[in-house]
Amino acid sequence: MANTLKLFIDGEFTEGRSWFDDINPATGKLAARVAEAGADEVDRAVQAAKRALDGPWGKMSINERGALLAKVADRIMERFDEFLAAEINDTGKPVSWASRIDIPRGAANFRIFANQARSFGSDAYMQSTPDGLGAVNYVQRRPLGVVGVICPWNLPLLLMTWKVGPALAAGNTVVVKPSEETPATATLLGEVMNEVGIPKGVYNVVHGFGPGSAGEAITQHPDVSAITFTGESATGEAIMRTAASGLKKLSFELGGKNPAIIFEDADFEAALAGTMRSVFANCGQVCLCSERVYVHRSHYDRFVEELAKGAQGLVRGNPFADTTTMGPLISEEHRKKVLSYYELAKQEGAEVVTGGGVPEVGAEFNEGSWIEPTIWTGLSHDARCIQEEVFGPVCHIMPFDDEEEAVHLANDTKYGLASAVWTTNLSQAHRVAQQIDSGIVWVNSWFLRDLRTPFGGVKASGIGREGGIYSLNFYTELKNICVKL
Ligand code: NAD
Repeated sequence: MANTLKLFIDGEFTEGRSWFDDINPATGKLAARVAEAGADEVDRAVQAAKRALDGPWGKMSINERGALLAKVADRIMERFDEFLAAEINDTGKPVSWASRIDIPRGAANFRIFANQARSFGSDAYMQSTPDGLGAVNYVQRRPLGVVGVICPWNLPLLLMTWKVGPALAAGNTVVVKPSEETPATATLLGEVMNEVGIPKGVYNVVHGFGPGSAGEAITQHPDVSAITFTGESATGEAIMRTAASGLKKLSFELGGKNPAIIFEDADFEAALAGTMRSVFANCGQVCLCSERVYVHRSHYDRFVEELAKGAQGLVRGNPFADTTTMGPLISEEHRKKVLSYYELAKQEGAEVVTGGGVPEVGAEFNEGSWIEPTIWTGLSHDARCIQEEVFGPVCHIMPFDDEEEAVHLANDTKYGLASAVWTTNLSQAHRVAQQIDSGIVWVNSWFLRDLRTPFGGVKASGIGREGGIYSLNFYTELKNICVKL
């Protein structure tokens, strides 16, 4: 009998309007049967979340809420192995990555945002008045209400708690829709919420798809005050259209086609190691991954050769084995999409330096969504494979001659999420970082995250910023109170 994953509404696990399959992408086998929510179930979740706002959650002090959220983080860590297994079965990602990134960072989001919400103050303004007595204005932060949280599949627990942590710390209640590909850890978190005493209705989980299913029902619901969404830019546009009626507040973290620039005076080995990670981590399925690599002509041939060697050295296999360094793509459907780009690249005139196909992984993994890490060269900059997000273990490498050209190429995209710049020239580092159109620029690193900093994208990569005070600003409504003295 397959495992079943139910909806979590008002503190209880409950069935939905139908069931759908959750497939383990490493094996291609059924991981779980999942309850699907339609408009009725979403409405029940939203009503429960509304009641919780008026109930004990809404009356708690920030310290009480923070203490409970710290217990959520602790309990996830106590049940670490269960969360780890659930995440790996849903995504196929290697245990070395999931145990270092997904689960610990997913848990930490609750503690960090609870602490931040407690430590941030609010603005006050002394105002002079004609009678000389003055007035004082101060800003009160109030929760938005019920927040709809719509999540992708690439870092399921981490990206969900990155939103749920600050939303709850700020006093909101949430209705979460995990990706249909990765429903397990959000469901398990429902158990944790009950175990540590989070009041019922504060955290609700509705499973399902986008249009005509749970996702759209959240964006249409009149009692949902805000939507925080991470996913594809095209989905963001669809959500924005639906959420326009009712004027919901929106925060969007969307797609990318991120550049990495390796300058002439970069530390070659560091740039190579960093680019190996930034291209192939999580099988290229991190929104921050580099899909466009620009290398100064003096290093170009050697860099292409060494990155290809690195790609060929990645080890596929049992995701639970410590030796595995590369998992599968998330699904057969996604593999079809990535393979269609592998084909398109050839039609567009790319030279395939390495990869380009489907590997033999053997035995129990033959039905999984495995794919070869791939490097292209030789495309013209307007090629679709250089302009469109593939979201797989693939990059195009192009040589450049000077800084101006590198900046121009980096910015020649509709996206603007993250960039990596490799150079030991301090002035060049600052000069280039300041000219690149993206929400974050890493200099001599990649995926180094301080959760107090603003995170988000420009152009088609997002709207708004989350992280630290920026999350708190999104998840609260500011009210000015003016007191005449
Ligand atoms: P997706 O847009 O296909 O799906 C994301 C979520 O939206 C899923 O839960 C899905 O069911 C839901 N959804 C789809 N259509 C909807 C609709 N009409 N109304 C409401 N909900 C709907 O994205 P994905 O394939 O899960 O994730 C990969 C994408 O996410 C990539 O583009 C990647 O770059 C992006 N991403 C961005 C960030 C970031 O921080 N900017 C982080 C991770 C992933």
